Amino acid sequence: MSGNGLTCVVGAGISGLAAAQELLDRGENVVVLEAAHRAGGVIETINENGLLFEKGPNSFPSTSDEILTLAEKAGVTDRIITAQEAAETRFLFHKHHLVEVPSGAKSFIKTDLFTFWQKLRILCEPFVAKRKSELPESVAEFFSRRLGSAPTRTLVDAFVSGIYAGDARQVGIEATFPLLKQMEDEYGSIFKALNARRKKRKNGEAPKMTIKNFQGGLSELPDGLAKNLGEKLRLGRKAKHLKQDKNGGFILTVEGPQGIEEVRAQKVVLAVPAPIAGLLLTGVSPFVADLLFDIDYAPIASVHAAFPESEINLPTAFGYLVPRPSRMRTLGWLFTSKTFTGRAPEGTHVLNGFIGGALDRGVVKADADALQYILLGELSLALGMHSFPKPSFFGITNHEPGLPQYMVGHAHRVKAINKLLRDCPNLALIGNYLEGVSLNDCIKKAKAAVADLMNHEGAVAEKEDVA
Ligand SMILES: Cc1cc2nc3c(=O)[nH]c(=O)nc-3n(C[C@H](O)[C@H](O)[C@H](O)COP(=O)(O)OP(=O)(O)OC[C@H]3O[C@@H](n4cnc5c(N)ncnc54)[C@H](O)[C@@H]3O)c2cc1C
Repeated sequence: MSGNGLTCVVGAGISGLAAAQELLDRGENVVVLEAAHRAGGVIETINENGLLFEKGPNSFPSTSDEILTLAEKAGVTDRIITAQEAAETRFLFHKHHLVEVPSGAKSFIKTDLFTFWQKLRILCEPFVAKRKSELPESVAEFFSRRLGSAPTRTLVDAFVSGIYAGDARQVGIEATFPLLKQMEDEYGSIFKALNARRKKRKNGEAPKMTIKNFQGGLSELPDGLAKNLGEKLRLGRKAKHLKQDKNGGFILTVEGPQGIEEVRAQKVVLAVPAPIAGLLLTGVSPFVADLLFDIDYAPIASVHAAFPESEINLPTAFGYLVPRPSRMRTLGWLFTSKTFTGRAPEGTHVLNGFIGGALDRGVVKADADALQYILLGELSLALGMHSFPKPSFFGITNHEPGLPQYMVGHAHRVKAINKLLRDCPNLALIGNYLEGVSLNDCIKKAKAAVADLMNHEGAVAEKEDVA
């Protein structure tokens, strides 16, 4: 397989598919190589006799402009659904039971999550001075400074482990929660920034955020994009080796159904996890490869389970997260069928749970029976039950290599990678390990990387014209 001006995208997760769609839109000659026999990467919806489970990501916020634009291109805009009101209620597992996360002043005053003195400390946030040092700071340091250390251990730990499978003491605020860092930089306080947002919402300038998915699950998005690509998407093709040719293009060695084949491309977009991109780049840019190997991933396993309604008494809510000091191994459970309609037949609950993360790396290697025992035992404890709930369906997906961890100083590493990549203008790196883990951030990065890759061509042509 070869072609003049061919751009080869390696990996058909959401990053690779978004990049390929951008290349198609620009009228470029593109081919996508994907090792698996389906597109979507970690996005995978399964339908088990009318039970709809997400093996990977579960939803996206309504503010995800990049997803909404891509959904239009994939022809699935009319398939988008909004979470039921129940999704506004979220719980934390705190002191052996579920406690609602306060969503306003009244619930904050009443909540058992914080003591009186902790509440007072939190309310002092607008008066806490902005940090002067430019040195990178961890998420735990940032919140301990702004809200106090006890609320950080309760609330922030749960969000960092539940959403990023991370350790709040290790991951950096700048890369993990850039918006909160920006709020402090711009307003001097998170509360002041949130207040300004609330006022905007009242004036109709900022719409209320809701949670979204597609009627048939998140896989509808990659499936639609794969359809657009048609035969340009080659499944079951694993990139094994990458080298540069004399003209600045690339030769990829690929393992496919017919054995080893060669793909010659003018430009390459690597949309695979960092350790795989590192392996492919050892011969092209060993320094970039070295930086990629250093990016840490936290292993995570997701669980999909269904229960007859008679088996568990589920609160009407989005789900719950578990702060690490609680010593529970479960990271959290999402009450999927309470959040979205059409996930389960009448009389059945569908739930998605998560286990593993940066602080419990070994547990995902336990056998399926042991994991089921831990997860259901802890679920019954959180729901205040006296026996194990018996699932009508239970499945576990181990995500390899897991979720990338944006350690303190991550932004510097990304800057260094981008700088070194200037020596390889026909190569782009995209994926969730660079500038955001969320689906929306992955798409944004993919589009920007393609624009850079193609603009470079324009810049060279312009330079040559001038010469
Ligand atoms: C359990 C879980 C829950 C999540 N929940 C949410 C959520 O609710 N909302 C949200 O916004 N985000 C969520 N995320 C994050 C988000 O889903 C991911 O960051 C994003 O989907 C990553 O996409 P990607 O394309 O960068 O990588 P991937 O999806 O990992 O895609 C990489 C692709 O490259 C392929 N590949 C690997 N090696 C090769 C090779 N040598 N040759 C060819 N192909 C190769 C793989 O098969 C894969 O298809 C979640 C992530 C996980 C793991």
